[in-house]
Amino acid sequence: MSLKGKTAVITGSNSGIGLGVARELAKHGANVVLNSFTDTDEDHALAAEIAENFGVDAKYVSADMSKGEDCRRLIVEAGGCDVLINNAGIQHVAGIQEFPTEKWDAIIAINLSSAFHTTAAAITGMREKGWGRVINIASAHGLTASPYKSAYVAAKHGIVGMTKVVALETAQEPITANAICPGYVLTPLVEKQIPETMKEYGMDRETVVKEVLLERQPSKEFATTEQLGGTAAFLCSDAAAQITGTTISVDGGWTAL
Ligand code: NAD
Repeated sequence: MSLKGKTAVITGSNSGIGLGVARELAKHGANVVLNSFTDTDEDHALAAEIAENFGVDAKYVSADMSKGEDCRRLIVEAGGCDVLINNAGIQHVAGIQEFPTEKWDAIIAINLSSAFHTTAAAITGMREKGWGRVINIASAHGLTASPYKSAYVAAKHGIVGMTKVVALETAQEPITANAICPGYVLTPLVEKQIPETMKEYGMDRETVVKEVLLERQPSKEFATTEQLGGTAAFLCSDAAAQITGTTISVDGGWTAL
């Protein structure tokens, strides 16, 4: 499968899953547009490294996915968007009574509303070109819940719902929309939770990983960013042309429980 000549825009891709997906799509020949809200030399260096390693065009566009106008500007500045990966996301953990309103608003904006804006902006170009892939990085928390993650679970269930709507609206066109639902992946987002949990439970790192983080992941292994990139690449292939409006779990069996 070759994605040569296609451009993939990946939101929130200067780290973690987004960067892994960008590398994997570049490996298949796609030109990639990286994004986050920062604008540092390191951000641009990541794009240069991908361009050099995979012989594709790669650039970095700074845009804040908590702001609708930035989401839409990202698609314009990308200069084309055949594959849209809505990946930017943040987390905050607190009981519903204590959950800070500003954290709720930020999670809904970045994890859910950004995908509305980027998809709305990208779909016209996909229709004109007669091909497109919308891939939303949801979560096992798009299909099931955990306590203390009200905003995250609401946003991830929301993006699974929006995925189905986009799939129905494009069902008779060569465009698909799907959500990938990862279980735990060891990225900075998860790494940050380890010392806090070690302190909270008085546990060592290994115990926190196996008994707290991976408690609900029957494989007892993290999924990897390469595996998620590979799943995204599969969804871009011809074999996946009739896969639309669905979720693909990459969660070591979490949602089979
Ligand atoms: P991460 O913290 O490594 O990456 C998050 C990315 O989003 C970063 O590039 C960050 O810069 C970007 N981002 C944050 N706020 C932004 C904003 N306002 N504008 C633009 N970019 C912004 O985390 P990750 O684990 O790679 O998470 C990526 C996605 O995968 C998220 O949507 C997350 O919910 C989802 N996910 C992660 C896991 C996991 O275990 N790591 C599991 C399921 C789903």
